[in-house]
Amino acid sequence: MSQDDINTSDSGLYVIVMSLNRPVKVRVGALGMVMFGRGAYLYTGSARRYLKKRMERHRRRKKPLRWHIDYFRKVSRWEFSVSFAGHSGECELARLVEQAVDGAIAHSRFGSSDCRCPGHLIHTTMGIKIISANLDILKRRGGF
Ligand SMILES: [Zn+2]
Repeated sequence: MSQDDINTSDSGLYVIVMSLNRPVKVRVGALGMVMFGRGAYLYTGSARRYLKKRMERHRRRKKPLRWHIDYFRKVSRWEFSVSFAGHSGECELARLVEQAVDGAIAHSRFGSSDCRCPGHLIHTTMGIKIISANLDILKRRGGF
């Protein structure tokens, strides 16, 4: 995929990376109270359109709480995001991200109300710089 394609495409997948420097207990919509340990968190999502705007929305903390991730964003630190424009298959990407950061599902069914996969929020104790490098490799490799 060329850089032009990445810049002009308005649909696709994204991974947003956040962190907690201490454990936090927070209500996550219908999931109820959820305990999150310290470390990094990677959330995989998709946008059929307005991919960039969706990622910007995730970055903002103040907004109506709509998705599970909105509740978690309220309490977490923003690190960075990666777009996979033109790609589909967010559940598959979530599994690849889980492997890439040697992580685990943060909470069963988090972010997966509309699908049947185990969850779209991955927790890892890996450092942010290594996570960034590993996501770069994943993005360059593509093929999912
Ligand atoms: Zn899923």
